[in-house]
Amino acid sequence: MNISRRDLFKFAGISAAAAAVTGCSTTAFDPLPKTGSKNSAVNSKLGKHQVVIIGGGFGGMTVAKELKKIDNKFDVLIIEKNDSFMSCPFSNCNLGGIEGVSLSSLTYDYSQAIEKNGYSMLTAVVTDIDRENKVIHTSMGAVGYDILVMAPGIDYNYKKQFPTWDAAKIAKARRVAPAALVPGGEHVALDRLVKNMEDGDTVVITVPAGKYRCPPAPFERASMIANYMKKEGIKGKVIILNETAEIAKGAAFKETWKDLYNGVVVHEDNCKITDVDFDKKVITYAQTVFKDKEDTEGVTTTKTLTYGVFNFIPHNMSNPVIEMSGVATTPDGFKKVKMATSAEKPVSFQTATDASVYAVGDVVGHAIPPSGQAAIWSGKECAKEIAHALRGKSYNIASVLPFKSANVCYSMVNGNPEEAIMVNHEFMVSGPVIGSKGSVPKGDEAANKFRSKGLGKATRDWYRGAMSDLFN
Ligand SMILES: Cc1cc2nc3c(=O)[nH]c(=O)nc-3n(C[C@H](O)[C@H](O)[C@H](O)COP(=O)(O)OP(=O)(O)OC[C@H]3O[C@@H](n4cnc5c(N)ncnc54)[C@H](O)[C@@H]3O)c2cc1C
Repeated sequence: MNISRRDLFKFAGISAAAAAVTGCSTTAFDPLPKTGSKNSAVNSKLGKHQVVIIGGGFGGMTVAKELKKIDNKFDVLIIEKNDSFMSCPFSNCNLGGIEGVSLSSLTYDYSQAIEKNGYSMLTAVVTDIDRENKVIHTSMGAVGYDILVMAPGIDYNYKKQFPTWDAAKIAKARRVAPAALVPGGEHVALDRLVKNMEDGDTVVITVPAGKYRCPPAPFERASMIANYMKKEGIKGKVIILNETAEIAKGAAFKETWKDLYNGVVVHEDNCKITDVDFDKKVITYAQTVFKDKEDTEGVTTTKTLTYGVFNFIPHNMSNPVIEMSGVATTPDGFKKVKMATSAEKPVSFQTATDASVYAVGDVVGHAIPPSGQAAIWSGKECAKEIAHALRGKSYNIASVLPFKSANVCYSMVNGNPEEAIMVNHEFMVSGPVIGSKGSVPKGDEAANKFRSKGLGKATRDWYRGAMSDLFN
């Protein structure tokens, strides 16, 4: 029987128009069941695929591309809620007014990657996961899988951090003080706030305790906003309220702030945000000062700060997709996915709970940095593991470890001249997980400085390479 494209959509219970509106790729997504399924709910909806990946970000897109590279016959579907890709890496360069960088430098269309790499994509929000029947429920219908890869990234945990705040206050926080740590409109909103700032405004950036996405990002952002103010001749301050005293690439950032933004970028340790009045633009926080390392109690003082622009980064946690799946997670506030370990495969991207379910990107329970580069590295290894599993074989990631420069992460700190700092991580087997060890080299040894023009150029080259990895 010949079935037309129009019939396919009728069969799937969605109209071609609806698919186009939501950005569902009509060229790449075939809604018919790909393999026989006993589950009638699956057959009557959006079909079943060999590998279904939740999340079309750094981790998910890499797994999909690598699987198709290994064997073009693998049937791979990504489910992604956004209809276009927006990069978090390099977004601080946009805020910093770096030459030639704009919001469009961060935005890519998924069709390019789909056409080039041959996987399918469904534009839909994942709403539930039924592991027993191997079905993912989405805003567009149910999708079956043989193997599921969870790559949904992070979410914010305002609720746990501020238990007395109601939904309206949390919604307001998201709207008027965007965290801009996930892809999408928050970057556009923060860009508008920064570009509309006035002389004398104070920009406040908060840094949360616990695991959070891209630890150097808030400090790079502070440097870039100060660079923008310098370039535009705007007088003001960028105040970082850090919940702990930790600064990723600390010595390198501190050196830069002293040299380039003295008195403009101000870093405050051990500041716990207790409340925010978003109408009056006032932050209340408790700052604890410790006498020395032996002093565990310190002296805490309640303070207030009035802001012009607020980049409020709350506590992070695994995206709710992880909780939907019911796989085991770590007992900390972030809830990282517990990864499988065995004598044969000491480290893995398979979850500890379910051999059919894998995880990559920021949600993994490995001791590696939550970065786009680590997600790309992990995505490639995870794809090899899945390809072997689909062929009834086993792939041991430990065989490629230790791996030098598995994560190289740059932070742009100056716009004129363009200069950056970097951290370089080696990955290794560390008990039941993949561990990492980082070092921050001096970029300009002659001047004995962490930042250098060479690293500024490397930042642009890395971003170009990463986008090429995902889209070409
Ligand atoms: C300001 C900033 C600067 C950064 N700079 C760097 C850098 O220089 N170098 C670097 O290596 N890393 C950098 N990072 C970190 C990097 O962005 C992340 O580590 C990386 O994106 C993690 O990849 P991921 O696949 O886990 O998540 P993501 O890339 O966020 O992808 C997750 C995807 O899942 C989708 N999704 C979520 N929930 C659902 C759902 N329910 N249904 C359907 N789809 C869903 C999301 O829309 C998203 O597209 C930076 C981050 C920030 C915020």
